[in-house]
Amino acid sequence: MTFIIHRGANEIGGSCVEVCTEKTRIILDIGMPLMNKDGSTFNSSEIKDLSVDEMIKEKILPDIPALYKKPRDKETAIIISHSHQDHYGLIDFVDNDIPVYLGKASHKLIELTAVFGGRKPVIKNPIYFSSYEKFNFGDIEITSYFMDHACCDAYAFLLCGEGKTLFYSGDFRGHGRKWRSFYKFLHIAPKNVDYMLMEGTSISRSNKRFETEEQLEEQFIKTFKDTKGINLVYVSGQNIDRLVTIFRACRRCGKLFVIDFYIANVLFELAKLDYKVPYPSNNFQEVKVYNPSLLTKRIQNLNKNDLIDRFAQFNIDYEEINKQTENIVMTIRSSMAHEIKQIKKLKGSTLIYSMWEGYKDSSSTKKFLNDIVKRGTTITTIHTSGHADNYTLKKMYNAVLPKMLIPIHTVDADKYQELFNEVVVKQVIDGEIIGNENKDVSLLAALEEIGKAYEKSGILPKSENDKIMDTVQQYLNIVCEKLKKNDVQAVLFGNMINIFDGYEISLKSVADFIGCKPLKLINYIDDFKTLEDKNLIKINNYTEPEEWQNVMTFNISINILTALKDNKTPDNENEDKRIIRFPKK
Ligand SMILES: [Zn+2]
Repeated sequence: MTFIIHRGANEIGGSCVEVCTEKTRIILDIGMPLMNKDGSTFNSSEIKDLSVDEMIKEKILPDIPALYKKPRDKETAIIISHSHQDHYGLIDFVDNDIPVYLGKASHKLIELTAVFGGRKPVIKNPIYFSSYEKFNFGDIEITSYFMDHACCDAYAFLLCGEGKTLFYSGDFRGHGRKWRSFYKFLHIAPKNVDYMLMEGTSISRSNKRFETEEQLEEQFIKTFKDTKGINLVYVSGQNIDRLVTIFRACRRCGKLFVIDFYIANVLFELAKLDYKVPYPSNNFQEVKVYNPSLLTKRIQNLNKNDLIDRFAQFNIDYEEINKQTENIVMTIRSSMAHEIKQIKKLKGSTLIYSMWEGYKDSSSTKKFLNDIVKRGTTITTIHTSGHADNYTLKKMYNAVLPKMLIPIHTVDADKYQELFNEVVVKQVIDGEIIGNENKDVSLLAALEEIGKAYEKSGILPKSENDKIMDTVQQYLNIVCEKLKKNDVQAVLFGNMINIFDGYEISLKSVADFIGCKPLKLINYIDDFKTLEDKNLIKINNYTEPEEWQNVMTFNISINILTALKDNKTPDNENEDKRIIRFPKK
């Protein structure tokens, strides 16, 4: 079983991992990116006119042909860890005959997002799994583990195939409303895992524990009590933990919880699936629903009036809101400027910002918040991360104790080794194949033999090995495996430039060839910033790192290797000056 992180090795958002055996392919998440390659915010509306081929070329969609059309080389399925767009958002582009495994509530939330966004729900072939269930697809066995995360139906997975095991954490934390699930996981965590892909969205050098939802509940209560006017809460409609926290604070303060009909639908659907959430009903009399004008118009245009009408008996109008502002906690978002205008008195009110700080950078949010401050509202923040703090990351690691830890869903992959100094942390890059370490290295044995003989006599022997590679790329892959195995420190650089001058090859291959981490290599590539495709580098313009300058090497000409490959006698007369150096052990 091998796997490839197509996106997420050094990025938050757009997660996608392909796991393959000889017969089976499983795609773990197929997320929408949050960032463009240049670091700017990814705008999904900009890709709506692109074809699948164009999106593959732009590296938005993963380059896995079987996802988009038949025939498929292997039985293929997708598994979605949870209902955040950065984990499923590109599924619209996938051939909808492919089975999609996901939690039932996740599917419902994905459908609601599509309906409210004016799009058709696209998962034609959903297969639901439940918590801690073992199921098979092809020759891969999958186990799901329910996780604590900001949304309500999130999972980690263990995949077993061809004698290897891979654990994928998905997104998780241990300080949310479902923290018990995380501690349950610690007790039942899989053992003897070969590879563990663990998210590190919030990994940092600080070991500060994150605040819990329970602590937030107390902070909401204090703010609600201290505020003389209306309490507005800026919150995501799918942060279910947070909505429950706010509702509980409302109930404890005797306030009405006023939500828009989108949030009402989210909670209503979850309640139908037996989730313990408050929703507009006689059981939750303090939950009231308002109908924001823009959203109402959009849903009416889609002829989906039932999504509005189903809460009619729990509606609250602006007259009523204005009558009892001090008694109301109301959820809002930046698209609701019109609704804010309907509230006559904002002096003395509080807006509680309850989302990630980074969203404040968007121009619409900025304007919305500025306008509201001008009318006398005080802004305060009550928020905690949807992701694990360092303490929780360590807990998960210690429960699984994998043979190898691989960072994912993070921009701080280099911090893993500091935090988990007792384990093999393998920093990878997008597109790198992992898990084929034990593949055939006979070529390398041959090369090593050549090297040894050359060292002794200065004459290159003829090799019987006919497997010498026919492409630069393959060659590098194989050589680097051998170098890793022999624990050789470094291979020379300048020589490689000679050999492959002008070639475009993958950054990963070069890094492996040299024996360093890709991210370190970037520092030595003068023109890295100007490269369009950061995964491919052009072999020129290098500065040779000092620590590699005195590596003892021996040389093999490229034309001699080529001749050996073709089982011909090398032409020493016309020796190609391009050489490869191998390090001396
Ligand atoms: Zn998430």
